[in-house]
Order: sequence, then C-alpha cells, then structure tokens
Amino acid sequence: DSRDFDREVQSVCPFCGVGCQVSLKIKGDRVTHVDGINGPANEGRLCVKGRFGFDYIHHPHRLTVPLIRRSDAPPKGLDVDPANPWTHFREANWQEALDLAANGLARLDATHGGQSVAGFGSAKCTNEEAYLFQKLIRQRFGHNNVDHCTRLCHASSVAALMENVGSAAVTATFNEIENADVAIVIGANPVENHPVAATFFKQFAKRGGKLIVMDPRGQALKRHATHMLQFRPGADVAMLNAIMATIVEEGLYDQQYIDAWTENWEAEKAHLAQFAPEKMAEHCGIPAETLRQVARDFATARAGMIFWGMGVSQHIHGTDNSRCLISLALMCGHVGRPGTGLHPLRGQNNVQGASDAGLIPMFLPDYQTVTDDAVRARFSEIWGSGDFSAQRGLTVTEILDAVHEGTIRGMYILGENPAMSDPDVTHAREALAKLDHLVVQDIFLTETANYADVILPAAAFYEKAGTVTNTNRQVQIARAAVRPPGQALPDWQITVELARRLGLDWQYTDPSEVYTEMARGMRSLDNITWDRLVNDGAVTYPSLSPSDPGQAIVFGDGFPRAEGRARFTPAAIIPPDEVPDSEFPMVMTTGRQLEHWHTGSMTRRSRVLDAVEPEANCSLHPATLRRLGVEAGGMVRLITRRGEITIMARADRAVAEDMVFVPFAYVEAAANVLTNPALDPYGKIPEFKFAAVRVEPA
Ligand code: SF4
Repeated sequence: DSRDFDREVQSVCPFCGVGCQVSLKIKGDRVTHVDGINGPANEGRLCVKGRFGFDYIHHPHRLTVPLIRRSDAPPKGLDVDPANPWTHFREANWQEALDLAANGLARLDATHGGQSVAGFGSAKCTNEEAYLFQKLIRQRFGHNNVDHCTRLCHASSVAALMENVGSAAVTATFNEIENADVAIVIGANPVENHPVAATFFKQFAKRGGKLIVMDPRGQALKRHATHMLQFRPGADVAMLNAIMATIVEEGLYDQQYIDAWTENWEAEKAHLAQFAPEKMAEHCGIPAETLRQVARDFATARAGMIFWGMGVSQHIHGTDNSRCLISLALMCGHVGRPGTGLHPLRGQNNVQGASDAGLIPMFLPDYQTVTDDAVRARFSEIWGSGDFSAQRGLTVTEILDAVHEGTIRGMYILGENPAMSDPDVTHAREALAKLDHLVVQDIFLTETANYADVILPAAAFYEKAGTVTNTNRQVQIARAAVRPPGQALPDWQITVELARRLGLDWQYTDPSEVYTEMARGMRSLDNITWDRLVNDGAVTYPSLSPSDPGQAIVFGDGFPRAEGRARFTPAAIIPPDEVPDSEFPMVMTTGRQLEHWHTGSMTRRSRVLDAVEPEANCSLHPATLRRLGVEAGGMVRLITRRGEITIMARADRAVAEDMVFVPFAYVEAAANVLTNPALDPYGKIPEFKFAAVRVEPA
C-alpha cells in the first residue's frame, strides 16, 4: 500500500519557483508519497510533478560513490551509460576524489592564474549552497566568473528591474491576484510551468477578473481569458508599445502616480507617439481595436498585475520586453498597492534564492555590485580574507566561449547541465570536452558529467536541509527526509571539503552557520533568522520585525532608486537575431511541458511522469503536418544553422502554422542542438525563443 508510512517530514517541492510546501510520507528509508500542506504559496495544493515526481531519488542511476575518469577511458563524449559507467570511470573514495578535484583546480590556478578556473552553481541547491559556491570562486580564485541558470532564465528581467525599479525581485506575490481586477500573463504558460500559481489565476478569472493572456503559442489559460493575444513571435515590443501608446493617446495614464514616483516620463511619452496600434497591428498580428481594448481594460482598472515568463525574457530584446512591462505598470500606477504589481514568474525552485545569494557574475549577495569597493570590502571582512576582482565576471555562455578560446581551462559545475541546457549545445559540449580539468557534482551521471574528470555524488533535495526562496520572495525551510544513497553527501558539505583542500579555512558544520553568515551581508534577510524559519516554515522578505511575516507588496512608498523614483526606459523594436528565409522558413521556439523538468534528469527517472510523457516530441499545426505529408505521431527532421534532430511530431492547433514548439527535456532529440546562442546585450540571455528552422519529413 503506497499510503502506508511510518513518519512524515515537511519540506519544499524541488521543481518550480512556486515553492509548494510538501509533506513527505516515509516508510523505512523511502518516500512513499507526497501531500501538499498549507504553505504561503500553495495553500495545500500540488501539481503532478510535486505529487508524483519524487521517486527519482530512489532510482538505480543515482550516483552513490565518487567517480574518477579512467586513464584508459575513451575520448570524452556523450556515450557513457549511467547504469554502467565503468569503461569511462572508476570508483574512488572521498579522500582520493576530493584531492584530485582540488589539486587539478589548484594546479591550473598556479600555472595559468585564478582566471583559468570558473564555476557554474545551481538554482536547485539551497541558499546556503549557492552562497558557499560563489564564495569559493571569489575567495579562492579572486574573480567573479561564477554564474548559474538564471542566465538562461530571467537575466534580462533582472537587468530591466534593477535598472528601472532598483530591485530584481517581484513587487507582489502571485497570490495578490485575488485583490486584482485585471491581470496580464505574457510569455508564460503557467498551467504547464507554474501549475499551482495557475490555479489562483483561474480562480481570479472565475470570479470576474479580466485575464489578458499574450503569447505566440496558444495555451490552456486561454479558456479563462478575457483577451487572448496570439501575437507574432518576436513582436513583443511593438505590441506593448502600441498598448502604451493607446494609454497615452487616450489620456488613460495615472499622472498623479507618475509625478510622485517616476522619472523620464516625458521621454517615454514622446517615444510612444510612433507606435499607434493602427501602425503596429500588422507587425504584431493583432487587430488595432483589440490592442486598444486591452490598453483600456488594463489602464482603467482599479488594480492590475503583470506576470511574465521565459517567452518575454529569452530574446535578444528580452531586457526591452521587460522595460516595456515595467513602463506599462508604472504609467497606470499599478505597483505598490493591493492587487497590483510586477511579477516575473521564477522557473526553478531556488533561482530567486541562488541569485539573491550572489551566484551571479556581476553581483554579490543582495545584488550588491562587485564594482563597488565598499561592498567588496564588506564581504572580504565577513569572509576574513583579502580583496577580489572588481571586474564583473563572465556569464554562462561567455564562460564556455572562454573555454574555446583557451583562457578558461578548469571548471567546477554543481547541479547544472550545460551539455543539455545551453544554446547551440554542440558548441557547449565541445567546450566541456576541451577542459583540462572538470569537476562535476550531481545526483545523476548527467550529460555534463559525461565530460568530467571527477564526479562527486550529491544528496538530492529531499535528502538535505537548507533554505530556499520562491518566486514570491518567501524564504522557506527544507528538511532532510531520507538519507542520501551510498556515500552521497549534501552539496554544501562537498563544497566545504573542496574549499578546505584548496587552502580555505572553512569551519562550517551545519547549514544554519552558513545562513547566519550569509544574513550578515544581506539586508533582505533582516529579521529572518534560521530559528524563525525552523519555527515558522516560511517568511517573506522584507520582514520589518521579528514578528512580521513579511511584506507581500513592496514599493508603496517609493523605490530603492535615487529619490525613490522608478524609471521609464523607452524600448525600440529590435528584430530577432535570425529572421526566417527561404532556407529556414519557419520559427522554432522551445520550452517545458507539464510532466518534465528542464533537462529531464529527474523527471525522466520518475516512474509516473515518464510513463505519461515517455517520448521526445515537438508540436506543429495540423495544416503544417498536412503540408509536410506527415501524420500526427510521425517523425520529422528539424534543421537550423547549428544542427538537426529527428523527433516525433504532434498535431497542436495552439501552434501557429509557421512555428514549431520543442520541449528541451529529451537528450535523444535535444532542442538545444538547434537554438540560437545570440545574446541580449544587457541581460546576456540567449535567444532560446526564436530560431529560423526548416522542418522536413524524416
Ligand atoms: Fe512543485 Fe511547482 Fe508543481 Fe508546486 S507548482 S508542486 S512547486 S512543480
């Protein structure tokens, strides 16, 4: 009986940024099932991933001992069988593996300088682990070449929010939608990617809230929408500027709010004059009258919110997209009150916390810039060590470019899978193969671990304690429910052991000690102690006193910028980097699907989820399939300038006739073989959401 258990432990779901609190039911040393509990974000609810996606932790592929590449191993590549890695790797004890890992990195430092070593940390680790990881790279190697998957996710949103609002986090929790009259959901598919948040959005629509969904791909939320704007891919700025131009032309903006709390309004207003809906309609593929009606609905509402996802951020104009959304909210005064706010829906369960903890190349914890001497001095004091580089570090894709150039020769990769997740993944895999020394720390032998010299076996999320921060700014405590398999250890413990072997005097014996040190440098954690989190389970930051559960809404009395004013930054139309042509006539976009998580390493090893979605698939409009002469369920070949894959095609009317949608979870047909690595110049995020593609019958 799967509901038979002898104890339960409360923790947080390891998948998306909603951060649902869970009760894990355990018998012996195995989790038997999972229930939702009354966390601040989920109020007892769970989606299919949270409920059924837990048994990957008991999968036979789990790494249980440290592995070292054999001296007679074949050349590095993707051909390692996770069930039988012995032709490539041999078993080692912790002592030998950690010594080899540390000595290899130290040797590169001694020979080529600290800049020859870089690190990718993880948004799937705890805040304490993210903090320790960035500290290790900065303190030991003296530079800021440390990043994580936020670069592939909301880096452009963060760039725009920091620039114009002065803070990268959401201004209101998604639960605030219950106080809104209108809500825009753009470039996000919450029914599949933030399913529990989507239940709140649907309830909002059912009780009469106006839900405006904007997406080049149709989606399930459409059924609940007052307006569904299925705009042309890449036309986001034109569409949003047209909506704002209407608000200006029809005098619907909130002059009092603009005067009190913003700057650069006159420039924005003048800029918008060229974007009348009638001029933009064809470019966007949306009738001018619809654009005008959406503008009126949003601007005249008492309270409005804006939610966005990767469809907004993963473009070379991703920062401009977010600038537009910020301007739209500001001009309507829809920030800082109940039912208003800007909310980029965070993807991974701890991408907010890992970014807050400084796991990014331009910022130390709490987004304090590395270029500020006083900030670096403060962290050097907390760390009890000397200064480190004032130069902003390289980002994820730049680090792999630097490997190709030969300036970076060694990497420590914790819980990230760039061999699957990076754009133009062939280029990324070639970089990994080229490294002189690669240390990978993970729970499975991932595609990236295939290229490692040393593999360190880590505990899964439900096997360790720590704090995580969800999309709502809610810092939550995760508790260890079961023991890690074999010799696997929590990530923080492995990083500490590695740091000691690299000569650092780190004495942490528990994540609570790391948290306490981290909080010394982070004002956002004021009044949020470890003990309080253990007692309360969750506290939202900022928390104004030891008894304040935290502020669901911020910036009602000004912004963390000069004179407390947010800024309008006008955005011009920039075409996608690759425009379809006769050779590659269609548009490819990528994303996730409900049952699978990112590169699939966990969910494809979860029995129920893999049974529901076992096969690599793409989605094409039925008319496109007819034109190709392919039946639904047949195979097609997708070809871009970077490579090709063969994949099963589904018929899906939600996809436009000139588009193909490809989930990126499947190694056997990896979407990122095809994606374009062109970067947004501000957030340095790649253009995952737009590549010119040719589709052929296979
Ligand atoms: Fe987990 Fe997200 Fe689903 Fe909640 S909505 S159960 S956090 S995957």
